[in-house]
Amino acid sequence: MINVAIDGPAGAGKSTIARAAAKELGFIYVDTGALYRAVGVYCLRNNITTTDADGVGAVLENITVELKFVDGVQHVYLNGDDVSTEIRLPEASMAASNVSAIPSVRAFLFDLQRDIAAKNNCIMDGRDIGTVVLPNAKVKIFLTADPEERAMRRFIELQEKGSTTTYEEVLADLKVRDYNDSHREIAPLKPAEDSVTVNTTGNTLEESIKLMINTIKEKM
Ligand code: C5P
Repeated sequence: MINVAIDGPAGAGKSTIARAAAKELGFIYVDTGALYRAVGVYCLRNNITTTDADGVGAVLENITVELKFVDGVQHVYLNGDDVSTEIRLPEASMAASNVSAIPSVRAFLFDLQRDIAAKNNCIMDGRDIGTVVLPNAKVKIFLTADPEERAMRRFIELQEKGSTTTYEEVLADLKVRDYNDSHREIAPLKPAEDSVTVNTTGNTLEESIKLMINTIKEKM
């Protein structure tokens, strides 16, 4: 199977760009952030403090997370419920960031990611795909952009969904998540040694998609 690993900070455009590239290549697109978000949603629903490693660790045995692909679109199921929409709420972002720093949560989601990659040609995006989950991926890309631009993209997305969150709040949130993701002890966000860094600051989406597809094709 051919695996492409894409890592990078929140809002770099990983999902949109990776989804388009996967379509072009005929691969499935796997968004691993959705898995951490699903665990975060479980904790929010059940009033479990997402920074409490022991508390979260204790409820993992009650959680089933599954990914299904319907017409190439990923759906994430939490204990049988399709939570694909709920996981996109801003509170689920922070909950995901918190639970993702807990080693037992990362271990819990590891096999699921590995299994999908073993069975499918895929583009998998996350924070530790090239470094931890798929160290032997054929292509590894670190996709990034300046924080202000990433926050502006997220802000516009949220506004389109009718959210009243301000740009300043989105930027502050994103900086906290960047910091948490890159400073945690386990699987911190960093470029894999053998990755290619693609910076999309100032690019249109079309330009970024083209750049990504060309980089993948060159490496393959
Ligand atoms: O990519 P997305 O923003 O949906 O990810 C939500 C959170 O899940 C991130 O802030 C990050 O903390 C965590 N995550 C992770 N490892 C991955 C994917 C996501 O730690 N492979």
